[in-house]
Amino acid sequence: APSLFGTVEPFAGDPILSLNIAFQGDPRTEKVNLTIGIYMDGAGKVPVLPSVKAAADKLGFGVRSYIPMEGLPEYRRLVQELVFGKAHQVLAEKRVATIQSVGGTGALSVAADFLAKHAPGRAVYVSDPTWDNHHGLFQRAGFETKTYPYWDGATRTLRFDDMLKTLEEAPAGSIVIVQPVCHNPTGVDLSRAQQDALTDLLIEKKHIAVFDMAYQGFADGLEEDAGFVRRFADRTSSFLVANSFSKNFSLYGERCGGLSVVCTAADEADRVLGQLKLVVRRSYSNPPTTGGLLIATVLGDPALRAQWEAEVADMRVRMKDMREKLAAEVKKLSNEIDVGFITQQRGMFSYTGLSKPQVVQMRDKDGVYLVESGRMCVAGLTDANVAAVAKSLVAARAA
Ligand code: PLP
Repeated sequence: APSLFGTVEPFAGDPILSLNIAFQGDPRTEKVNLTIGIYMDGAGKVPVLPSVKAAADKLGFGVRSYIPMEGLPEYRRLVQELVFGKAHQVLAEKRVATIQSVGGTGALSVAADFLAKHAPGRAVYVSDPTWDNHHGLFQRAGFETKTYPYWDGATRTLRFDDMLKTLEEAPAGSIVIVQPVCHNPTGVDLSRAQQDALTDLLIEKKHIAVFDMAYQGFADGLEEDAGFVRRFADRTSSFLVANSFSKNFSLYGERCGGLSVVCTAADEADRVLGQLKLVVRRSYSNPPTTGGLLIATVLGDPALRAQWEAEVADMRVRMKDMREKLAAEVKKLSNEIDVGFITQQRGMFSYTGLSKPQVVQMRDKDGVYLVESGRMCVAGLTDANVAAVAKSLVAARAA
């Protein structure tokens, strides 16, 4: 008899995760992995942040009972303060409903389910290009996703006017996903003036902003990077912020993040929190304990927090330094390549503008792995590999 699941279609997998499997299997010792969005230190290792290790030692391993559907109260308060700033009026007025989420992905997934119920039938606009799961998560929740122009391949800059035009022409009340800092995959962010202009437009059109902040602290600083979201909250409400601790705590596998919904009044925020809890209860019931305790301990202890802030600064500075070194190495080899984009782009990623055949050449000839879109993770660069990466890049550009 035919098997019930005999005709199940294969899953194509995630192209970036597949590339990582190919990388692991590559026997060349000089290979360099610049694909996945994971921060690596100067020795090419994923770090254990000393502040997090200290928190783990302090906590030890105790009872792991269920925590509330919305997460640990301390964690949620600390998320709010990190995202909005301690003194923000939205917190004083208790207008923000925040849950501890299962990473940034879990925050967006709950956001999509919440919006599917309470703001159904709207179009969801994401940047072109974007983190691919933006499409997937919102489609899974029943939305149709559309794109707004973002990246201009010819100039390696932002298509800001086209972006505004598309969002102007979008039906009023559309859902707009915005990465406020360290845009994945391009590394190109809006300037302060562009942020203000986008804010005006989103308010005027009554669009629902969903900020996806996965890299807070990797551009200019923890406070600075939240500026766009905080200024937005100064001016309006009824929007969402997903934040992730995967990168800035180097706690990828512990699945820690937050989802905050900014409401117009405290009683509304209470009811919204209830609806977020309902979504959580019906999907995974409650968030993970260990990661939640680790993050609440670091953020809540003044000494550990100061240590963590310095560690985030180290990661940020190292990535900026590697951008400068890569640009300098490329310049040594070729005067024809304008390297300005490498240092101007921010965060973990650089969209290089390399074509797919050029990326394939770098991988096949030199063992330098980029994503086929031309995205490079600058956090994979080290003093030991940056010259070889520059050489491979220049050769690919000439091919
Ligand atoms: N959003 C963006 C833009 C990302 O780049 C990522 C991770 O790569 C996420 C969300 C998801 O983060 P997490 O690993 O915390 O689920």
